[in-house]
Amino acid sequence: MRANTWAGRNKVEVRDVPDPTILNSRDAIVRVTSTAICGSDLHLVDGYVPTMQDGDIMGHEFMGEVVEVGPGVDPGKLRVGDRVVVPFPIACGACGACAAELYSCCENSNPNAGIAEKMFGHPVAGIFGYSHLTGGYAGGQAQYARVPFADVGPLKIESDLTDEQVLFLSDILPTGYMGAEMCDIQPTDVVAVWGAGPVGQLAMDSARALGAAQVIAIDKEPYRLAMAERAGYTTINFDEVDVRSRLLELTGGRGPEKCIDAVGLEATHGSAHINAYDRVKQAVRSETERPHALRQAILSCRSGGVVSVIGVYGGLMDKFPAGAWMNRSLTLRTGQCHVHRYMKPLLGLIERGEIDPTRIITHRMSLEEAPRAFEIFKHKQDDCEKVILTP
Ligand code: NAD
Ligand code: ZN
Ligand code: ZN
Repeated sequence: MRANTWAGRNKVEVRDVPDPTILNSRDAIVRVTSTAICGSDLHLVDGYVPTMQDGDIMGHEFMGEVVEVGPGVDPGKLRVGDRVVVPFPIACGACGACAAELYSCCENSNPNAGIAEKMFGHPVAGIFGYSHLTGGYAGGQAQYARVPFADVGPLKIESDLTDEQVLFLSDILPTGYMGAEMCDIQPTDVVAVWGAGPVGQLAMDSARALGAAQVIAIDKEPYRLAMAERAGYTTINFDEVDVRSRLLELTGGRGPEKCIDAVGLEATHGSAHINAYDRVKQAVRSETERPHALRQAILSCRSGGVVSVIGVYGGLMDKFPAGAWMNRSLTLRTGQCHVHRYMKPLLGLIERGEIDPTRIITHRMSLEEAPRAFEIFKHKQDDCEKVILTP
């Protein structure tokens, strides 16, 4: 089959690879009909999430048709011919974490849990196409994918909704929603969202759906801010104005009650995977050249407010404003999304027309065009917001 593979830092390549096969009795094979590129994929191509290997198949946002199931898959839950959206974390459905609905912390789905434990202190769940740190699973930017614990994760789509309407249930819609839900939004709340990428846009839609009084989008890409403005949100361009001052202006001097970081790791931020000298240099540079979303969110948030972090971080973060966090009674909430929790209720919102995630799709390309698609998404060319690839 054809698959988009990691080919070294800043390089992906579509290659011929062996078809996946059933390895465990609860596996299924899915013929992928649509797959997307995510900001998280950029952390892999940038080299900020370690342990990618040449030839690893990329992609954790995908859906398609079940073409084979292992003998242990409960036929009451999943059968050949079912049309499914696959959640990006792989979860067993039976461990302590899964019982607590903390699916992205599943204790049974990451065969390389030891690597994750060294990095994070405890293991984390397996994730499709997301490095050997999260299990080394082949991803979904391919013609076929193997889906473990197939009677736990995949959501059956039984209505005639299009792939485009439901594909983002695999990740970014639940992620944006969890970002807003963690804010415990009250009807008078102003919610500021750092990052008007796909995840940020869907966090904004979710904040509105959860009843926020006002939603503010912060980014520097004019076309992404324009997209947020068209959807009815107030915008701030961080290249043009001082974000904290503008937020204070918009909120009677007190700051937004709720702040969402939908940015995460950025090339200039420093991380655990670069040497100490570079880290210091980058930290100094990021202070002077480029604002840091999380730092800014903590410093801008109203006292007693919530900072909800859905942007992905890998290792260490420089200059974490612990003083502001502690002295102003801020709550910090975060997580890789527990996608399974949200898929069904969000499908309901889509069916009822309360959220339309297709508004962020700007590019539809073939799987063969994946290298070009990564380029335009990464470098924000051609007004690219979200790319869907069809194998
Ligand atoms: P993206 O790269 O398309 O969007 C990020 C946006 O942030 C860009 O538009 C960029 O211009 C903007 N930005 C950069 N620095 C900023 C700053 N200082 N202030 C404000 N905006 C800034 O990525 P995406 O697909 O929207 O994903 C966003 C983040 O969410 C990534 O870190 C991704 O890894 C993460 N993510 C997390 C989960 C989860 O489960 N928690 C799931 C999916 C994606
Ligand atoms: Zn994603
Ligand atoms: Zn589990």
